[in-house]
This record gives sequence, structure tokens and C-alpha cells, in this order.
Amino acid sequence: MNSKTVGIIGGGQLGMMLADAIKKLGGRVIGLDPNKDAPITYVADEFINASFDDLAALEELGKRSDVITYEFENVKSEYLKTLEEKYNVKQGLKPLFDSQDRLREKENALMHGLLPVRFFNVESIDDLEKGIKILGYPCLYKTRTLGYDGHGQILIKSELDIEKVKPYLNQAGILEEYLKFDYEVSIIMVRDEDRTVNLPLSRNIHKDGILDITYVPALVDKQLEKKIIESSVNFMKSANYLGILCIEYFIKGDKFFFNEMAPRPHNSGHYSIEACDYSQYDLFAHFLLDMKIPSTNLVHQAIMKNILGESLDLVSKFEKIPKSYIHMYHKTEARPKRKMGHVTLLDVDYKDYLEIMKKM
Ligand code: ADP
Ligand code: MG
Repeated sequence: MNSKTVGIIGGGQLGMMLADAIKKLGGRVIGLDPNKDAPITYVADEFINASFDDLAALEELGKRSDVITYEFENVKSEYLKTLEEKYNVKQGLKPLFDSQDRLREKENALMHGLLPVRFFNVESIDDLEKGIKILGYPCLYKTRTLGYDGHGQILIKSELDIEKVKPYLNQAGILEEYLKFDYEVSIIMVRDEDRTVNLPLSRNIHKDGILDITYVPALVDKQLEKKIIESSVNFMKSANYLGILCIEYFIKGDKFFFNEMAPRPHNSGHYSIEACDYSQYDLFAHFLLDMKIPSTNLVHQAIMKNILGESLDLVSKFEKIPKSYIHMYHKTEARPKRKMGHVTLLDVDYKDYLEIMKKM
């Protein structure tokens, strides 16, 4: 058993499930979040109720912890730099910094061997129009920073939609090729100085820019699957990242395109809690606690479905399905599109799932 204390910046569901895994290994957890009822408060040993902009509170977290990590992605990088100099931010600032800006993120992916869809930096109407000329319609505008769950994205289908982008042009953005991909997958890896362990590829289906379901196995052509795993592991090594990393890809034919990455546990890896012998949270907990990262295998076919604020009625329905595992995040306010919980169904494939949903 381990007796280290892990400080987690951010106390959402990802922090909560990570805290569960750390505690299972004997570690202690201190969460920091501006919401005094954050999900992590249900699991953590200690909690600091403070803004992510409160450097003194972040330092307090550092003082009380043996190791610090982040599940919230928008911690100011200069604050994290200060913490990194004084405390043990084991993953370091780099992977977070590289992922905080979509332009930097894509240029970094290119630099380390991954191919994104075509993109242009947009800081003016001129940049936007030039980009559209090259990419044609439809194309996709995204703010460079602070986007999540499809926020800050505008699909430009015709000249008329340019108006919708104008209010965003006072901040930096990118224009992307809109790829009519065949499907989306993601991969989650955990790396220390000795080894990189990866979870299987998962297939992800988004609805209105938010992840709706993830299923495993991802049913990807074996050769392509091998290429994606190799490139992802090489990327992580080449970029010199430690800890956890999720990469999202678009698949079109036998090609795969880098979409984005996240150096924290990822929604598309929730299924691993029940479907793998070690989950994404377990693997990352081992890393944080300086324990050898175990290998992990898929032991069940599975489907994970997010439960959003508008679909809470699904909970009681899923409860009746055999081998369903419901995780609720203790969020008091159920807003539409807000992730309230998720359910994982074991030994179910996508066709079975569609049947189940039809009956509901
Ligand atoms: P977020 O940070 O909101 O997850 P993403 O860039 O991953 O932002 O976009 C969310 C979803 O929108 C993607 O998973 C995909 O389904 C769709 N999407 C994003 N970019 C593109 C693109 N260039 N072409 C086609 N679909 C896209
Ligand atoms: Mg995404």
C-alpha cells in the first residue's frame, strides 16, 4: 500500500474517479475546485475550495501534497510553472501547455509525427476569408483556447455563416477543414520513464459536439489499429510527455487524422473502469504514486453512454438492464448538455445497444 498524498487541481467527475483509484491503492487525495460541492468532495480526504486563479491556494495544495496533477485543463500556465518549480507536478507543465491552444496543439502534433486535418490560424476577417477560399465549404471555425464539448465552434456552411464568426474574431481562432470522416477513435496511454501502457482504441460517437457513447473493441482494421497505436506511443515519447495522455483521431479510409489531445483522464476512457483489468484511472494512479504501471487488457466488450442533464430519465431505465454500471457525479443542478453521470454496459455490442435504446 502507498501513503502518498496526491493534490488534484480540478474536482469534476474525472478528478472524482481518479481520486477513487488513488485511494484504492492506499494514497490520499486533496482536491481543489471553485465549486464547494464539486464531485471530488465525495471522495477526497481534504478539499480546498478556491478559484483556479488563486495562486496562494494552488501553493497551499502544493505544500500539502507529495505530488500534484490536474484534471482541469485551463489552469494558467504561468501558475503551473510556479508550482512546477517548487513542487512535484509529476506530468510537468508541458503536455498541458501544448494542449491549451488548438494552434499550438496541432503544430506540436505535426512536429512529432501526427497528421491533423488542414488548418489555418485566424486572427482577422482577412485570415478567415483566405482560409475559406482554400478549404471551401463546409469548414469549421474553432476558438483556439477554452473550447470543450463543442463550445466555441462554428460550422461555416456558406458565406452567410461568416457573420456568426465575426463576434469571435477579437480572440484567436483556427479554421479547419471539415472532414467527413468514417468514424472517430481515441487512445489513452500512461507513460513513465520505463514503459508506455495503452488502453485499447475506443470508438467514439458524438452528438452536437458532445461525446454520446464510446464502445470497445473499436472494430478498426488490424493494420490500421497497429499503426495508430504505434504512432501514438511514438508521439508521446517524441514529445517527451509523462503521465496520462488521450489522443482523439478521425478515421477516413485507411488514414487517421489527429483531432486533439488531453493530458488527463478522458471521458472516452470511462468504460475501462469495468471493462479492463486496470482502468485509465488505475494506470494513472500507479504513475502518480510512483508505482510500476501495470499492463491492462480489455476483459469485456462494453459500451459507455454519457447521461446529460436532459436525459436523467435514462438512469432508472438503465438500472433494469443486466450488467449495467451507473456512475452519477453528485451534481446538484441538471442543466441540458451537462454531464451528470454515465453508464457502462458490459458484454454488449453496438447493435445490442441500439436495440436496448429502441426499447427504452
Ligand atoms: P472539443 O474540445 O469540444 O471536444 P473537438 O475539436 O474534439 O472539440 O470537436 C468535438 C467534435 O466535433 C469532434 O469529436 C467531432 O465529432 C467534431 N469535429 C471537430 N472537428 C471536426 C472537423 N474538422 N471535421 C469534422 N468534425 C469535426
Ligand atoms: Mg474533443
